[in-house]
Amino acid sequence: MKIGTPTEVSAGENRVAMTPDSALQLQKLGYDCLIQSGAGQKAGFADKLYEDAGVTVVATAEALWAQSDIIAKVRIPTLAELDYLTPEKTLITFFNPGGNAEGLEKAKETGANVIAMEMVPRISRAQKMDALSSMANIAGYRAVIEAGNNFGRFFTGQVTAAGKVPPAKVLVVGAGVAGLAAIGTATSLGAITYAFDVRPEVAEQVESMGAEFVYLDFEEEQQDGSATGGYASVSSPEFREAQLKKFRELAPEMDIVITTALIPNREAPKLWLKDMIAEMKPGSVIVDLAAEKGGNAEGTVMDERVVTDNGVIIIGYTDFPSRMATQSSTLYATNIRHMMTDLTPEKDGQINHNMEDDVIRGATVAHQGEITFPPPPPKVQ
Ligand code: NAD
Repeated sequence: MKIGTPTEVSAGENRVAMTPDSALQLQKLGYDCLIQSGAGQKAGFADKLYEDAGVTVVATAEALWAQSDIIAKVRIPTLAELDYLTPEKTLITFFNPGGNAEGLEKAKETGANVIAMEMVPRISRAQKMDALSSMANIAGYRAVIEAGNNFGRFFTGQVTAAGKVPPAKVLVVGAGVAGLAAIGTATSLGAITYAFDVRPEVAEQVESMGAEFVYLDFEEEQQDGSATGGYASVSSPEFREAQLKKFRELAPEMDIVITTALIPNREAPKLWLKDMIAEMKPGSVIVDLAAEKGGNAEGTVMDERVVTDNGVIIIGYTDFPSRMATQSSTLYATNIRHMMTDLTPEKDGQINHNMEDDVIRGATVAHQGEITFPPPPPKVQ
C-alpha cells in the first residue's frame, strides 16, 4: 500500500506529517511513501531529502490524495480535503472530533476510516503515539523561550563588574506535559521556578526538576483535583479561592508566568486575574498556553501579544509547535510511524484496522461509513 503526506493548507502551518527519517521506517513496514512537492519545505525538509530516502515526490495535492491508500497529515482536514476520501482510504491526522461535527459527518459519508491523533488514549502502551504530549512538550519549551525573548532581563542571576543581577522568578501553573517542559526549560536557564497544580501527586516531579511546588493553605485531604487518567477535574469553590489567594500573594514577585491549566472538554479555568496582573512589575511576561480554550489569564487575546496599561506582556499564541516546525514534525512523524506499526502487525505494507485494539479503537472516529466517536473507555490502563 501507499502512504502519502500532502502540504498543509492552513495558513501559517509549517509542520509536515512525514519526514525523510519516518519514511525510511514506514518503508520497513512494507509501505511505499509519497510526499507532495514542497510539503516539508517549511520544516526544513526539501524534496531532495525525501527522494534520497526513497520517497516519490508528487506534484499536486489532488494527485497525492488520489494515489495514496493512507494519508497522514497534521491539521484538521478541510471539507475540500475530506472530499478526496473514498471507502478504501485511511486518513490519520489531528481531527478535533469533539468540535468538528461537520467534518465527522463528511468523513462518514465518504466511507473512509479516519484516525484522530488527539484521541490516542493516555495509556502507557500508547505513549509513543501520543502526539498531543509531543506537541505540548514543544509548546512548554517554546513558551519559556518566547517569554525570554520578550523579557528585558537575564533568567539567571549574575554578579558582574557592572552590578548584581537577580535571577528571574518564573511561575508555571499546571504541571502536565507542557508545564513540566516549561519547568525544565526555565530551571535550565537559571530562573528560580515555582509550579502549582491541582494534582498534588505531581509535586515530587516538580521538585525533582529543581522547581518549588506551591502548596495552598488548604486541608491536605481536600487539596486534590481528583485526577482521572492523568487529567484534572473541576476544583471546588473553596479550593479555587485558596488557589487565587496564593496567586495574589505571588503575583508581585513573579517576572514570568506560564499558564497551562486545562480540564479536558472545558473552557480553560480563569486563574490569573486582572487584579493579579495589575500587581505585576512592568516588563513581566505571561505566556498563556491555554489561549485556544479561552485562556487562563484575564486579558489574553488568542494569537496575539498584548501589553497591559501597567506594562505586562501577555502572549496568547496557539502555534508554538509550528514555530518549531523541524522539531515538531520530527516528533509528530514518529508518532504517526508508531501508529502505522500498530496498524501493520505483519509488516507487510497492508493496514489491519483492528477495532479490538484499545488504541486503534480509541483513536478511530470514522470507520466503514459509521461515526465511531466518542469511543468506549479503554479496557487497559
Ligand atoms: P495536561 O492535561 O497534561 O496538563 C494540564 C495540567 O493542568 C494538568 O496537570 C492539570 O492537573 C492542571 N490543571 C487543571 N486545572 C488546574 C487548575 N485550576 N490549576 C492548576 N492546574 C490545573 O495538558 P498539556 O498536554 O500539558 O497541555 C497544556 C495546555 O497547553 C493545553 O491547554 C493545551 O491545549 C496547550 N497547548 C498549547 C499549545 C500552543 O501552541 N499554545 C500547543 C500545545 C498544547
